[in-house]
Amino acid sequence: MADFNELKSRVNGSVMIDVPMKDHTSMGVGGSCVCMFTPANTEDIFKFIEWARSAEQRYFVIGAGTNLVVRDRGIKYPVIRIKDTLDSTDIEYEDESTARLKVGAGKPLAGLVKECAENGMSGVEPLAGIPGTVGGAVFMNAGTDQGCISDVIETVTFMERTGRTRTLAGKDMGFGYRTCRALSSSSIVVSATLSVKKTDKDSVQKRVESILRNKTRTQPLNYPSCGSIFKNPGKIKAWQLLDEAGMRGVRVRGAKYSELHTNFIVNTGSATAGDIIALIDAGMEKVREKSGIKLELEAIIIGEQ
Ligand SMILES: Cc1cc2nc3c(=O)[nH]c(=O)nc-3n(C[C@H](O)[C@H](O)[C@H](O)COP(=O)(O)OP(=O)(O)OC[C@H]3O[C@@H](n4cnc5c(N)ncnc54)[C@H](O)[C@@H]3O)c2cc1C
Repeated sequence: MADFNELKSRVNGSVMIDVPMKDHTSMGVGGSCVCMFTPANTEDIFKFIEWARSAEQRYFVIGAGTNLVVRDRGIKYPVIRIKDTLDSTDIEYEDESTARLKVGAGKPLAGLVKECAENGMSGVEPLAGIPGTVGGAVFMNAGTDQGCISDVIETVTFMERTGRTRTLAGKDMGFGYRTCRALSSSSIVVSATLSVKKTDKDSVQKRVESILRNKTRTQPLNYPSCGSIFKNPGKIKAWQLLDEAGMRGVRVRGAKYSELHTNFIVNTGSATAGDIIALIDAGMEKVREKSGIKLELEAIIIGEQ
């Protein structure tokens, strides 16, 4: 077992031992992680990486935990959590029609969308209603049919396990549908610069409100979930395939394919990660039987098998 007191002595941020992951994920399931580190600043991330390297310790990065299913046996290595920290927004450059914003990885997307709308800056509206952080959104290339974070990214700054800090242009990040090839599972996004257009506040605000209204109507937001469970295979929607395979409303104990949006698995209160994973497997199997299509996970499952 790694020496977490040694980590504590090196950093300014908080180091917590044995932390229930259900309290740090929107799905609200999963066992504890052995240690959760929340850095106080960028320097702290560097110190954490140095510690991890010297202790030959693997780690996992989380933001708001809104795309994760943590297994019931928990995570036997440290989690570095970039949330409630590194959450500043600075205007790096602006002229009459555009602005470049530098945003910390821990910035909640909701806060970013709100600030941009209030200041008549357009570009990030498609991220409205996505409940993660900027770092998580970069790793996932979060978005919808209306656009993704990669559409507005100029650069991303991240640290690698080697301790090297890199800044890459958006076009070199290898963004794809919910992927970012330049980032490995041990890369830690620190900040991103975004290019937005200046326009009138009202039109940005109206677009955000319309997107939020639509999500409230079509997504089961009153239950814990991690958003879409599966990626859409091509033009076909995963929810349609699940629906045709008879999965709407199907449950495994406390976990259920939402009646409102079949590509959401919701925790009706008492679900375990085991229930959710059993339901994922059942959905994949039924879709394969019915349509011959192999669904691919959008949600990320982590932790001890
Ligand atoms: C109700 C609901 C609706 C949703 N709607 C959408 C939607 O419309 N579109 C969409 O794309 N997603 C959606 N999601 C999923 C989720 O919000 C996004 O994937 C989001 O970008 C995840 O951000 P996060 O900070 O919560 O990341 P986490 O869930 O904490 O992590 C997700 C992945 O990103 C990595 N990661 C997180 N932070 C960092 C960092 N700083 N550096 C490096 N890697 C990092 C993690 O290692 C993990 O692999 C929804 C989720 C919910 C619960």
